[in-house]
Amino acid sequence: MKENWDLVIGLEIHVQLTTASKIFSATSNSFGANPNCQANIVDLGFPGTLPVINEEAIKKAITFGIAVNANIANESIFARKNYFYPDLPKGYQISQYEAPIVANGKLRIHPTEEDSAIIIERAHLEEDAGKSIHFTHQNYTGIDLNRAGTPLLEIVTAPSIKSSKDAIRFLKRLRELVTHLEICDGNMEEGSLRCDANISVRKKGTKIFNSRVEIKNLNSFSNVQKAIEIERNRQILAYENGKSID
Ligand code: ADP
Ligand code: MG
Repeated sequence: MKENWDLVIGLEIHVQLTTASKIFSATSNSFGANPNCQANIVDLGFPGTLPVINEEAIKKAITFGIAVNANIANESIFARKNYFYPDLPKGYQISQYEAPIVANGKLRIHPTEEDSAIIIERAHLEEDAGKSIHFTHQNYTGIDLNRAGTPLLEIVTAPSIKSSKDAIRFLKRLRELVTHLEICDGNMEEGSLRCDANISVRKKGTKIFNSRVEIKNLNSFSNVQKAIEIERNRQILAYENGKSID
């Protein structure tokens, strides 16, 4: 059953950049402060405030781009992505859509094997949102906005990873790289490196891309592996029973 299907995986990795301040304001970017003590009016998008890009975030993004042999954009554009979430009271995230700062790089999952390179389609800068806290209060959820405006580099691979093993290899190499470059502390438990896994399956030998399912905010290698395996089996079972993946 499983042998008749190929797995197609594309990863999006959010890397928190170790800048001293937030991506668009002078607020400290350190981890572990008391809730809501480290977000200012720029981070919260108050009327009349003007975001100003943090030069260090740009430098760290470019450092990554050079390390993966990518193109560095001479001109890069920020855009608003609209969301309704309790941890994003301003209602939008500043991100990049057209002209990301880094495009078309690659990273080998086996350092000495050239054909083991995974294509990095893009890496763009964006701000993080706040955090919903579910364990401190009994009947309601707390909101901590300290993380609002934390600089993220979102690294997006092509849908060319073929197994959960290779996905983990790629993530481990990527974590090694960003910690070596000193652009991220690589701490997955604290959320400094989070992964969204996009997963689809297709009949062995075919080249079409079927509908993908995206599992977001995975914060450990083993969770990435489990998510991919469970989702793969679910999709194969659905197709083999004549159902579709939405
Ligand atoms: P979105 O904002 O919807 O998440 P992105 O372009 O940021 O879109 O990311 C799309 C991700 O999904 C990429 O990592 C890409 O490689 C992956 N992907 C695209 N099509 C497929 C597919 N058919 N199967 C698995 N992964 C896919
Ligand atoms: Mg996505």
